[in-house]
Amino acid sequence: MPSYRAPRGTRDLLPEVRAGFSRLEGIARSLAARYGYREMEIPLFEQTAVFERGIGEATDVVEKELFRIAPRTEDSESWALRPEATAGIVRAFVQHGMQTLPQPVKLTVVGPMFRYDRPQAGRYRQFWQWDAEVIGDPGPAVDAEVIEMGRRFYVEAGVPDVQVLINSIGDAACRPAYLETLKAYFSRHAAELPELERRRLELNPLRLLDSKDPAMAALVAAAPRISDHLCEACAAHFESVRAHLDACGVPYRIESTLVRGLDYYARTAFEFYRRGAEGQQQALGGGGRYDGLVELLGGRATPAIGFALGLDRVLLALEEVGAETVTEAPPLAVVAGADPADTVSRLRVASLLRAEGLSVRAELAPRKLGRQLETASKEHAHFAVIIGDELAEGNVQLKDLEAGTQRLVPLADLARELARASKSHHHG
Ligand code: AMP
Repeated sequence: MPSYRAPRGTRDLLPEVRAGFSRLEGIARSLAARYGYREMEIPLFEQTAVFERGIGEATDVVEKELFRIAPRTEDSESWALRPEATAGIVRAFVQHGMQTLPQPVKLTVVGPMFRYDRPQAGRYRQFWQWDAEVIGDPGPAVDAEVIEMGRRFYVEAGVPDVQVLINSIGDAACRPAYLETLKAYFSRHAAELPELERRRLELNPLRLLDSKDPAMAALVAAAPRISDHLCEACAAHFESVRAHLDACGVPYRIESTLVRGLDYYARTAFEFYRRGAEGQQQALGGGGRYDGLVELLGGRATPAIGFALGLDRVLLALEEVGAETVTEAPPLAVVAGADPADTVSRLRVASLLRAEGLSVRAELAPRKLGRQLETASKEHAHFAVIIGDELAEGNVQLKDLEAGTQRLVPLADLARELARASKSHHHG
């Protein structure tokens, strides 16, 4: 029994799984580039205040799930691991004066996030997100563009049946009145509210709408809808987002209980779910417009919108639908040798080929040639380069393991021959 294990809620991405992640990251990066986003990195941890202000103190993420880093001395700053990327990206936007760049600024981050939550299927303490943010465009066209890019990610990743749920949560002009209406409604039903929800009623009544408590379902279903309380400007914005989605052929469903519980969020909110998998822990991704956040973190008032798509859940979804797993590519060639002891020649030839950009494995164990070739076939290498006495005249044997043929090739031509074979192999 090993005595050390990965911390609860984290997992090692073993090579097979890592390959699946890399594929998703590749799709994300390719999409981001195609849609004009620039990739950046932000630290894995920030001053705690960035999250407390940027995500909100009355949220689960900050209240319960923040991984705080214990300071070593009393006067050191208080830090926390990033539970999401938006706050850090906006902090960076403000810190580096990106308001002076041509607007909007489109930024993307791919990487691990941390939340101290009870681990369960699809919920980890370290998980991966693809995050994309457009800062400096009030929409509504860009809202649809962001949603369309998110949906395309699932299409290219091969997750079937992903649907877009959207809503408008109004803005500073219309939301306050709606919140009063909502508060009045839930207050009338205060006796039916579970304890936790009753406390939330004062602080943040919107959060009651996405309550995880099953006892709330009927009350929530009958609650006043924000869509019936939008001001004219918000209603027009929402209508235009929908028209742009329609024009791009993006199907969506309006979900009136889809909310974001913070003041700086405005208007468009959306989530991605697989049809038939719409439970609490099953959102594949989500995002929304956060027109008040740049200002809240010390910048000039700047409208913005973005999303965070969870990569772990995409891999789980792919597993569930039985999608083919990513296989790592075998080496093009294995460098083997007739003299088991002559590892010097094998390593030297392998090194030459690698310098030419070829993927080869050098057989460095002092084993008999037969065994070396057996292993090469087992790992599906296309060729074996066999070093023997011919090396004295500058030649090696090139054995095509798939065709079973073999011929003498001058060492000087070997890289070129292999590169050509590699190309026709891949294209054939
Ligand atoms: P959120 O920032 O909470 O809207 O999360 C965006 C996406 O990240 C979700 O839709 C999930 O796919 C993913 N996600 C959030 N929290 C976790 C977690 N604890 N474990 C795995 N994935 C997560």
